[in-house]
Amino acid sequence: MVKRPKTAKNALIIFITIFFAANLPGCGNSAAPMTEQSFLLDTIVTVTYYREADRSAVLEALDLCREYDLVFSRTNPASELYRLNAAGSMSVSPALREVLALALDCCRESGGRFDVTLGGVSALYDFGGEAHRPDDAALREALSHVGWETVRIEGDTVTMTDPETVLDLGSVAKGWIADRMKELLVSRGVEHAILSLGGNILCLGGRPDGAPYKVGIQYPERDSSALAATVSIRGESVVTSGVYERFFVDNGEVFAHILDPKTGLPLRNGLLAVSIVGPCSARCDALSTLCFVLGLDEGLRYIEATEGYEAVFITDDHVLHRSSGFGALETK
Ligand code: ADP
Ligand code: MG
Repeated sequence: MVKRPKTAKNALIIFITIFFAANLPGCGNSAAPMTEQSFLLDTIVTVTYYREADRSAVLEALDLCREYDLVFSRTNPASELYRLNAAGSMSVSPALREVLALALDCCRESGGRFDVTLGGVSALYDFGGEAHRPDDAALREALSHVGWETVRIEGDTVTMTDPETVLDLGSVAKGWIADRMKELLVSRGVEHAILSLGGNILCLGGRPDGAPYKVGIQYPERDSSALAATVSIRGESVVTSGVYERFFVDNGEVFAHILDPKTGLPLRNGLLAVSIVGPCSARCDALSTLCFVLGLDEGLRYIEATEGYEAVFITDDHVLHRSSGFGALETK
């Protein structure tokens, strides 16, 4: 049996979790939140805000998100990344350069278990559409063009020494875009808002009544909205990577969208999800995918050595493994 991915549905559940938590009784009588939403970056992007006067800034932030979708999309022929992938070498925008540099740092840090050149392999699964198991020969051919060390950034020019290589920035772009949307809202005087880009959450300040935002982290794979943990944050980001949105089940086997660059198959290392909490959403996004590919032990050590960021790892027995500072963020 092949189960279709549930991107839109699950993105909505994550949003509802925040919305509900923002309205818990006993949290004061703040203004009712308002929302604006768009389907962008292959997911539902939602901005929750509190003042009617902030609406135009919120719409501007969604427009900015749309513009960056046209930079980072691997599949849209009109995007800058698509053109770079087709050209093999091209002068790129500062945005594309910055996100690629961040992704390449993760490739280096992970010894190649994180690989930004997996695009040709990702394309075979079509996780955003009718996801399916790829044909072995096609997988072998796509794998022969994977290798992050073939990517060079010189000035504003990006070159892949193998012209067939396809870059995929899905591991970090959403977090980076969330930071840019937040910057725009702050520059327009917005003080309280929550951005939700699929599994990426980023807050501006706390709630208008002074309380922190409560963000629920769901159990992966499960259809119910049961929460594994709830964190209280102010101005920070919570980003999750794992078996939530883009996966399918074939013959009882779960195929998730984080791949092993050696085999081209979904990475199976006993982890179902990693959530990161920290100040910069791009960094949280990079760390969520990086810690996932590093696995539980190495990933936990990495996060302990990364100042300002905490993590919870969920293993396939549905047990939670927290970094040393994570408990202090949790709402019991
Ligand atoms: P999302 O927020 O879309 O759930 P993540 O931040 O967890 O995504 O990153 C997963 C995405 O990263 C995949 O959809 C794919 O585009 C890309 N990817 C998959 N495997 C790897 C890998 N081993 N290294 C780097 N990027 C990967
Ligand atoms: Mg990520």
